[in-house]
Amino acid sequence: MAERPGSLRELIYERIDILLNLAAAALRHGEEKYAKRYVYLARRLSARYNCRMRKEDRARFCKSCGMPSIVGMNAKVRLRKRTRAAEYLCSCGAARTFKY
Ligand SMILES: [Zn+2]
Repeated sequence: MAERPGSLRELIYERIDILLNLAAAALRHGEEKYAKRYVYLARRLSARYNCRMRKEDRARFCKSCGMPSIVGMNAKVRLRKRTRAAEYLCSCGAARTFKY
């Protein structure tokens, strides 16, 4: 589908980006409750408007515990050279992999 500037989809992606930024900021300040809430809202937006989250957005939170992932705080990144994948490990034990 062609992306027009100012389209609804673009607006949703912008809002998701803002919410994930807020989530990360909240977690940095130790506000876990708000962090989870922002991630929840971002995910609900993408589901509601049928906008699949972009790869870089999906790397920014944990699917299983709903917390934003901040590398060096509650997330670890490992590079798997053999499979050419980046593995994001959350403090809850869940892992996500992304090809690079
Ligand atoms: Zn997690």
